[in-house]
Amino acid sequence: MTQTSLKLSTHSSPGRATAVDIINVTVRFTTDRGTVTALDNIDLQVPAGAFLTLLGPSGCGKSTLLRVVADLIEPASGSVTVLGSSPSVARGRRDIGFVFQDAALLPWRTAIQNVELPLEIGGQKPTKQRWSSKELLQLVGLAGWEHAFPHELSGGMRQRVAIARALITDPKLLLMDEPFGALDEITRDRLNEELLQIWASTGTTILFVTHSIYEAAFLGENVLLLAANPGRVKEIVPIPLPGNRKVSLRETKGFVDLVAQLRRVLETC
Ligand code: ADP
Ligand code: MG
Repeated sequence: MTQTSLKLSTHSSPGRATAVDIINVTVRFTTDRGTVTALDNIDLQVPAGAFLTLLGPSGCGKSTLLRVVADLIEPASGSVTVLGSSPSVARGRRDIGFVFQDAALLPWRTAIQNVELPLEIGGQKPTKQRWSSKELLQLVGLAGWEHAFPHELSGGMRQRVAIARALITDPKLLLMDEPFGALDEITRDRLNEELLQIWASTGTTILFVTHSIYEAAFLGENVLLLAANPGRVKEIVPIPLPGNRKVSLRETKGFVDLVAQLRRVLETC
């Protein structure tokens, strides 16, 4: 199937810059068991400031797509541009923040010391810092916990620290790979709301991987559905819900209908 270029609809003003430009990207992995086409001819343009959620079955290439954008994997063919540069240049400029499912905090460092870690490793210090580590811990709801060690924090709190750490370099692009996948539902709901507030206050572009249909619909301005074997774009579903979303929105008919629509597409992925 030939793929047409997929344009995302967003609430923000038209004509803004493209944060991520993925053109005909194919990624293959060769192992003892043969070659897997993890991504097949992906074409995707994400405007600056967008919140895009990526949804799809296990193994459809969601993590691989984020890793290509983050300069952690080289595509076999095609090109990726992040904020006008190659992913490696964008990474060197510290334009990219990454949050994984596991917060991966250093156990011997306090919350605030973990947040400051990216300032100490790799390359030069950023010239400007929009927020201090203390302000970022406030932003993620951890005021007063600056000097706590990871073992003193709950899973949700550790993930908040990981988000603050990703934001310390003021990245223009935030890549999140199932960041709330290991949390209980109540904590996840709360962090979903908070993430939308963080997105509103930072203006950063977010690519957020999940395999929860609810999370994908609640967070995204658009949901990108990927199909597996080979990993490919199945559909982009716009989410025409208000910007300032609260968890109670999930009980509305509009939301329930969107979830049903996403589920129907997902069943064909
Ligand atoms: P998802 O995040 O959607 O679950 P992944 O991007 O992790 O999917 O994987 C996509 C496909 O690529 C899967 O078939 C997976 O087994 C394969 N894959 C991913 N990373 C590697 C790797 N480093 N080596 C070999 N195969 C890999
Ligand atoms: Mg994954």
